[in-house]
Amino acid sequence: MNRLPDFHVHRPQGLPQALSALTAEGAQLLAGGTDLLPNLRRGLGRPSVLVDLGALSGQGELDGLTAGADGGLRIGALTTLQTLAGDAALRAGWPVLASAAALVAGPTHRASATLGGNLCQDTRCVFYNQSDWWRSGNGFCLKYQGDRCHVVVKSDRCYATYHGDVAPALMVLDAELEVRGPDGPRRLTVAALFQEDGAQRLTLAPGEMLAAVHLPPPGRWRAQYLKARIREAMDFPLAGVAAALWRDGERIGGLRLAITGSNSAPLRVPTDDFAGAAWDGAAAARLVEAVRKTSNVLATTVAPVRYRRRMLLALARRVVDDLWTAA
Ligand code: FAD
Ligand code: SF4
Repeated sequence: MNRLPDFHVHRPQGLPQALSALTAEGAQLLAGGTDLLPNLRRGLGRPSVLVDLGALSGQGELDGLTAGADGGLRIGALTTLQTLAGDAALRAGWPVLASAAALVAGPTHRASATLGGNLCQDTRCVFYNQSDWWRSGNGFCLKYQGDRCHVVVKSDRCYATYHGDVAPALMVLDAELEVRGPDGPRRLTVAALFQEDGAQRLTLAPGEMLAAVHLPPPGRWRAQYLKARIREAMDFPLAGVAAALWRDGERIGGLRLAITGSNSAPLRVPTDDFAGAAWDGAAAARLVEAVRKTSNVLATTVAPVRYRRRMLLALARRVVDDLWTAA
């Protein structure tokens, strides 16, 4: 481990002050720090200013869950994953989000890790999440400090993988994100936060931050998230699949599916054409094929590509099987 680089720390007392501090050249947000600080210790990044949001936790605008008049829920970006995992209203109405949060890392991480930090976490790669010394032996790489990709040689973009657990759950819930920045608030879909580039993973403009997540009422949908990982107690997803199903008798009323651990962004798998079909062997084969077409598993982790790909396809089928049977 390297020592932390030098940086100034701002500890704003309110959202306007945080947004103002974020306009400084080289400023970066610090929420729970469970993703950012280990990376900085490895020499991955050199922010000139860390905008520490710690003093804003407990403030309603950014922290906690608020029921909406329409039966939906607003969740502040600083809400910890521990709070999400244990919240009674969330577990009753949107259990997929509570269980995805409960599956992130270990209990000590979840006590400080936040919803916003989880969504905005960095992408990962075996050639990137290494010490400065290790990376220098390879001449660094395209994602940071180098000019070559060691995973897709001759590529002009980075294929580091997004391994967040919460984003796919939010995607199948049709959640919306509330962004604050210099040009005022705006809302976007979860998919629109991400772009498929391991080095430029987010679409947030300079000075923008996530303020909250908005969940629509659950309605007729039931949802579930499954993940495969090396150490059951505390690991990133090697493959993760969330699905939401509305079962209409012996037909599918609607199906949404999202994947993580496979590409540089969490992705929705196209499933609109499943509405009206029965959930049988043919539909399962079609779903597996849709996941295969959407995903692009590459050698970015120590676990073999073949294993991760097979787990992804198997989890996709299993999660819909489970939802169909439970409905
Ligand atoms: P931080 O580290 O504070 O921030 C992460 C990034 O998000 C930074 O770039 C920061 O600038 C940015 N950011 C933070 N808040 C905002 C905001 N409101 N708006 C815009 N940008 C923001 N993650 C998983 O999903 N699943 C796992 O299983 C998992 N396992 C882990 C295991 C270990 C051993 C470790 C060290 C980490 C693991 N993580 C895992 C990663 C990390 O712990 C979580 O993703 C955590 O939720 C990150 O949240 P945080 O508040 O600590 O983010
Ligand atoms: Fe580096 Fe390539 Fe890995 Fe990206 S995918 S972190 S460019 S080796």
